[in-house]
Amino acid sequence: MINVFQPMLGEAELAAVKEVFESNWIGKGRRVEQFEQAFAEHIGVGTEHVTSVNSCTEATFLAVQLLGLGPGDDVVLPTVSFVSAANAIAAHGARPVFCDVAERTLNPTVADIEAALTPATKAVLVLHFGGYPGEIAAIAELCRRRGIHLIEDAANAIASRVDGRACGTFGDIGLWSFDHGKIAVAVDGGMLYARDAELAERAAKLAYLGLEHFTGFSQAEKSANRWWEIEVSSFSRRSIMNDVLAAIGGVQLGRLPDFLRRRRFVVDYYDRELAGIDGLELPPPLPAGHEGSHYFYWVQLPAELRDAVARDLYERGVYTTFRYPLLHKVAIYGADRPLPGAEQAAARTLCLPLHQALSDTDLKTVVTALRESIARRSR
Ligand SMILES: *Cc1c(COP(=O)(O)O)cnc(C)c1O
Repeated sequence: MINVFQPMLGEAELAAVKEVFESNWIGKGRRVEQFEQAFAEHIGVGTEHVTSVNSCTEATFLAVQLLGLGPGDDVVLPTVSFVSAANAIAAHGARPVFCDVAERTLNPTVADIEAALTPATKAVLVLHFGGYPGEIAAIAELCRRRGIHLIEDAANAIASRVDGRACGTFGDIGLWSFDHGKIAVAVDGGMLYARDAELAERAAKLAYLGLEHFTGFSQAEKSANRWWEIEVSSFSRRSIMNDVLAAIGGVQLGRLPDFLRRRRFVVDYYDRELAGIDGLELPPPLPAGHEGSHYFYWVQLPAELRDAVARDLYERGVYTTFRYPLLHKVAIYGADRPLPGAEQAAARTLCLPLHQALSDTDLKTVVTALRESIARRSR
């Protein structure tokens, strides 16, 4: 089966893990610190603004907690979001309010966000669909004007930029993922950026049981005796990264330019080979100044063909999917109002295989299978 997403791990990651094993320190230590530093540099911010956690989902829960969102607060998010976003909002007692997206980009426009704002809106939580930055600069401006927090789920957007500025750094808090399905993986892991460095520091404490180091006892007292004493600042969870995962993540971050080069090649190939097929629409071009991450490559088909084409491809060993199933259709979030752009997109969109391990033969298989299926099904 040609997978739709797939990590690429090899000897360099194995060597890094071996080194961690041999160091006798596998917990959160020097390598986590190095990974945080490298990531902060990658997104162009100071290390004090960044903290690692064990998943992007956990970073999302922390973001909602750090901004104090809770009962009585509305949080606007696109219905095309990963489920972790709505869960984090609802779990804290706030209300997820779903907005529409543009049918072609699957990102919300400023107008989509604006239409969903209520007097109780305290925050907006957007992702960058497939790594496309979307109208993030204008959305950030809208939030600033209205005094609303902005959280960016940049899990799709590790290398995405607008006029040189990294996606994830436009709002108050940005979040990234290093899970098994992302471009760069740490097996599991997440990063959190906070514009306010104090929030990032609080996030780091919350990620380790709310432990307050060196309070109550001075450093000198601690080293003289009883260094095991603790102080707890809040009732929190344990969601830290460790040196094994950070060592893998660090190697992967270093390989990111190579990964992006291969993904760019795949995207160009699809763009070229799938152009001009009747009834098939390709991802829209990026606006000037926008850089994507090539995380999804999605095509749009007539709704009556989409599922049949997906089945045909599956039978020929090509896995495709649609991300992200509409959250305003999920009963537990207590919402289902018409959001026509998203509903059209959800009926017509198919994500094709896109990862750095795709061979040239794989690409030919995908394109041939797709061309033949569409030709047969549209007869
Ligand atoms: C992968 C992903 C997440 C969740 O990341 P985890 O690290 O698996 O918790 C959240 N949002 C988006 C957009 C993602 O792609």
